[in-house]
Amino acid sequence: MFRRDLPPQGVSKGLVIYVAAGRIKPSSREGFLHAACDWPSHAVPLGFWHDEPVAVVVDEPVSGEEWPEGRDWLSDLPASQFALLATALQVASWRRNHRFCGRCGVETAQVPGEFAMHCSACGHRNYPRISPCIITLVTHGDELLLARSPRFPAGRYSTLAGFIEPGEDAEDAVRREVHEEVGISLGRIRYFRSQAWPFPHSLMLGFYAEAASRRIMIDHKEIVDAAWFSPRHLPRLPPPHSISRDLIETHVKGVAGR
Ligand SMILES: [Zn+2]
Repeated sequence: MFRRDLPPQGVSKGLVIYVAAGRIKPSSREGFLHAACDWPSHAVPLGFWHDEPVAVVVDEPVSGEEWPEGRDWLSDLPASQFALLATALQVASWRRNHRFCGRCGVETAQVPGEFAMHCSACGHRNYPRISPCIITLVTHGDELLLARSPRFPAGRYSTLAGFIEPGEDAEDAVRREVHEEVGISLGRIRYFRSQAWPFPHSLMLGFYAEAASRRIMIDHKEIVDAAWFSPRHLPRLPPPHSISRDLIETHVKGVAGR
């Protein structure tokens, strides 16, 4: 169980997760949690794992060490560990990318007791960035609109997704992304749930969207193919535990139950 309340100031010993540019050091026992030790000064406390303080340390593999990609860890983890590792990855990438002030360029210092980097020259504070994205399953009756990104493994189709622009609300982002990527206009939109996605710092807001038109026109940039699928004949889907898979499976179960 991961608890997000930060350890009291002065606590400088506990479990450690080592992260280097999105890669995670395997522990000698198993998994990614390293036995309790005195934390180095650049450790960032994250909270508690089963009542033991836990921190992330930005580090580098020594030669010969194999640190697997964060994505590979998350796809194999029990759901209970997902939140801890997602937090460690996001905080590590923020800590690594904000060593200097974005306003005046002076080296920043970590503020004890919170996720903040402080510039003593100009007073600017930097906090971990979270980028909201929409992810949406477009439906038409029972059918699902699924699409392929050029980055996907062969045969895989998924829901549509995109970043929310400055000043835009989530529902408008759903309508804009769906129109840009597949040329479909939407009727009713319904919120589903959200999922933190630490590559590098997204918060996926899941929606169902009812299509008001059926003719697909793909943009050929973010999407290389898109089609309507029957719940009985689905293509290769995104991995389990992803919100895209959950959107699809929840719709398919709903159709089966009607
Ligand atoms: Zn500054």
